[in-house]
Amino acid sequence: MSRSAHPAGPRHADVLPEGGPAAAPADLNRLDGRVWPGGAVRDAGSGALTFAGADVRDLAREFGTPAYLIDEDDWRRRARAWVEAFGEDADVYYAGKSFLSVAIAKWAAEEGLHLDVCSGGELAVALRAGFPTARLGFHGNNKSAAELERAVAAGVGRIIVDSHDEIERLAAIAAEHGVRQRVLVRVTAGVEAHTHEFIATAHEDQKFGFSLAGGAAAEAVARILKHGEHLELMGLHSHIGSQIFDTAGFEVAAHRLSEALAAIKRDHGVELPELDLGGGLGIAYVETDDPAPIAETARRLKEIVARECDAAGLARPRISVEPGRAIAGPPGITLYEVGTVKPLPGLRTYVSVDGGMSDNIRTSLYDAEYTVRLVSRDSAAEPMLSRVVGKHCESGDIVVRDAWLPSDTAPGDLLAVAATGAYCRSMASNYNHVLKPPVIAVRAGAARVIVRRETEDDLLGLDLG
Ligand SMILES: *Cc1c(COP(=O)(O)O)cnc(C)c1O
Repeated sequence: MSRSAHPAGPRHADVLPEGGPAAAPADLNRLDGRVWPGGAVRDAGSGALTFAGADVRDLAREFGTPAYLIDEDDWRRRARAWVEAFGEDADVYYAGKSFLSVAIAKWAAEEGLHLDVCSGGELAVALRAGFPTARLGFHGNNKSAAELERAVAAGVGRIIVDSHDEIERLAAIAAEHGVRQRVLVRVTAGVEAHTHEFIATAHEDQKFGFSLAGGAAAEAVARILKHGEHLELMGLHSHIGSQIFDTAGFEVAAHRLSEALAAIKRDHGVELPELDLGGGLGIAYVETDDPAPIAETARRLKEIVARECDAAGLARPRISVEPGRAIAGPPGITLYEVGTVKPLPGLRTYVSVDGGMSDNIRTSLYDAEYTVRLVSRDSAAEPMLSRVVGKHCESGDIVVRDAWLPSDTAPGDLLAVAATGAYCRSMASNYNHVLKPPVIAVRAGAARVIVRRETEDDLLGLDLG
């Protein structure tokens, strides 16, 4: 039976042997460089994890647990690697939905990234950070009039339109403001990709975008061109999935997008200058995940677009991409304290930590896999088949479904879960009125709280009695 709870979720669970998890790793203390950020190493003396130069035991004492930690240098290094790999003739939009705060928006600006937002709230963070508005992209299938109004007034560089309703709404708003707003058309290319597989004939029964095959995209283009006084059509946008390890799906999408660009040239006599390939490049959550280096992915994507556009007789468009997870995921870890250890003889041991599905919903939502390690010390004890669970009143409250931990793991120990920098804090909830953990940036041994821990006053401040 497939354990992928969600069709868009990761599929690595499928490759596990039937009826059980993968075998115990040879060394439970090892921190694999594919999964753990650059600044994560064990201290030779204590065996505890040093994270970007800081001892996690000190961080836990100072800031409490659970806590999200970000290796700032690693985050910046990944951002720079993307910008450099795509070069001058491309733009890298960081997908803010993966994790956004004022500090993160500042890092993104400093490292030369553009930034995608997809709600008024994300836009507010970008504006608070003073992010250059011309470098902002605004996404969403149901942006409200107020959100569009604010984006236009702020001078957002481009708005990715997603419905006929939105085209009319936005044209009217741009007219009121006396501006010509740059837009891209989000299309569904009929390709869906995740991990190693892609479906070239994905069904289009979903809420995002205009169908290329069904003709809706062509109609959207015609409508925008008709509003040419207030809308400036820059190009097409497609996003084919997430946690993708293979460029084959992008190849099919780029082929269909360049056909569409050629059709637009034929029908309207305009050559659109931009093509956005979306995000979705995968990262290593577990040691068997093997994403290609960014430079190689960039080279392939650029090659694909160049080849397809040359074949279609089009000038090569400016490319943009929208990585979220690939920048923000690997530099982040979550630090938890163990509260209870409950052996179930013949089954496994349940290790409960002081957070759970409120700080990481991905395991229950997508059946995502994670890597967890004991980090307040090392251990030579035997591996123990475990499940790391949270403290919520819900049996699906699982952080790591199949984990091997040392058999001497005990209350008071610290555990760290790797690659939680994306889609964990940004999807956090207050289920059970649990308080959201802080986000702490660590660099050269110095820790700085960039999002503070929620307090009961924060929670009760919303409750008017
Ligand atoms: C979610 C999303 C992204 C980012 O996806 P990642 O898997 O984090 O790279 C980029 N673009 C769009 C339109 C998205 O919806």
